[in-house]
Amino acid sequence: MVARVIPVSPFDLVIFGATGDLARRKILPGLFHRFKVEQMPEDARIIGAARSEFDSAAFRKVVRESLEQFVGEADRPANTVEQFLERIDYVNVDAMGDKGWDALSDLLREDKVRAFYFSVTPSLFGTLAEQLHKRGIATPESRIVVEKPFGHDLETAKALNADLLKCFNEEQIYRIDHYLGKETVQNLMALRFANSLFEPLWNSTHIDHVQITVAESLGVEGRGEYYDNSGAMRDMVQNHLMQLLCLIAMEPPSRFEPNAVRDEKVKVIEALEPVAPDDIVRGQYYDWNNRVGYKDHAGNPESRTESFVAMKVAVANWRWAGTPFYLRTGKKLRTRMSEIAVIFRDPPHMIFPKMEGRRGNALVIRLQPDEGITLRTTIKEPGPGGMRLTEVAMDMTFDDALGEDLHAQDAYERLIMDVIRGDQTLFMRGDEVESAWAWADPLIENWKNSTQRPASYDSGGSGPEESMMLMHQDGRRWRSVGQ
Ligand code: NAP
Repeated sequence: MVARVIPVSPFDLVIFGATGDLARRKILPGLFHRFKVEQMPEDARIIGAARSEFDSAAFRKVVRESLEQFVGEADRPANTVEQFLERIDYVNVDAMGDKGWDALSDLLREDKVRAFYFSVTPSLFGTLAEQLHKRGIATPESRIVVEKPFGHDLETAKALNADLLKCFNEEQIYRIDHYLGKETVQNLMALRFANSLFEPLWNSTHIDHVQITVAESLGVEGRGEYYDNSGAMRDMVQNHLMQLLCLIAMEPPSRFEPNAVRDEKVKVIEALEPVAPDDIVRGQYYDWNNRVGYKDHAGNPESRTESFVAMKVAVANWRWAGTPFYLRTGKKLRTRMSEIAVIFRDPPHMIFPKMEGRRGNALVIRLQPDEGITLRTTIKEPGPGGMRLTEVAMDMTFDDALGEDLHAQDAYERLIMDVIRGDQTLFMRGDEVESAWAWADPLIENWKNSTQRPASYDSGGSGPEESMMLMHQDGRRWRSVGQ
């Protein structure tokens, strides 16, 4: 299958924080890929903006080095790189001051889509919005892209929303959660809403439970100080896992249109029951061999910040009453993997002999590695040995089914093109972010007031024993985190 590339309208994309890690690692390489496949039209331009004293030529050198570092050699023919660099300019702008704004304004063209990517520290989001607004650089059609984290809690998220809304309409604000840009996540919607196969089964009558796992093998080395102020709940659960939960649990929207989709997601968050203290486990990793753990990496011997969370969540509505959602995320686990597993109930009456170790039907949506979908089914074991059953996985790895080129895009490049197209479907609306914080805040507050320490778990393992118990006490078990 060949990827269909539909060119976007000509644009001026300004990247504030263009010299930073995210821009060099994700945004610029992503734009290069889109350029290479000719999705960027002739007169599209990228304008880097930061305080570093570069001119455009010096910045292009930074971009070239970033591409050398983050794009495989075979994927960056020299002439394509040179043509891409010709599309790039740089202005030396200080978000906090007066420097560079006139130069930026002069560079922007009247008749092009205007987008401003805030790839800077969140403390500058409000200031940038105000600068763009008061200097008349943002037009009513301009878009801003806001990176995560979006607030630290409900109060700060509300304040940030209010700051942005002073200068931009909600329709102009694109709050990024890069999980939503993953091919598999979008496929989850296609799977549910473009097929008649699953939807009749998509409820508590047929689904026993859902497991959502986002496991990372790295620890917090190098960003311990930042992470210690955040923790897994703020860093992963409130945003990424919540988004995945919403897409699994939401009602079919009436149209595939940004507000219709986001309305349904907000309803899921608002239907979440408060999580009972016994239904949530937090942990911190520790490497017993090397006698080093989370607290060392965080540089805080007294830290109670969680590098792991597992919890049981209930969605209180007709569709899901009686079907728990188990969420789990952690650092320094056995492997890096993310998946959603929908575990179906057993048939109401089994006519075959009991099968040892039977796990039943499961639909597993893999986000990483090897994005794809697996359907576990029970079949007859081949051979003349009577009616013995076995389980097989019908596996669709997207690389195999669709071709590597087609879906190898990074989430960022897809999302940036959506911004240019003006499609907000895969971006979080302000009330969505606030609802997610309103749900997460009391849990974090409870921990703050608790004398209980996070449970310790082995680096390279599957998380604390207590998280296994969370499942066992319900007669269920987690799927394995890698082999
Ligand atoms: P970073 O490496 O620290 O880069 C920050 C950028 O902001 C630099 O280009 C810096 O350049 C610029 N900057 C700082 N102060 C400025 C000012 N007053 N005016 C104009 N530019 C200024 O940060 P990052 O890792 O790229 O992260 C950027 C944003 O993305 C943050 O909100 C972060 O939370 C979010 N994010 C990052 C990642 C990631 O993987 N890195 C992942 C998810 C989300 P100068 O010093 O030259 O001004």
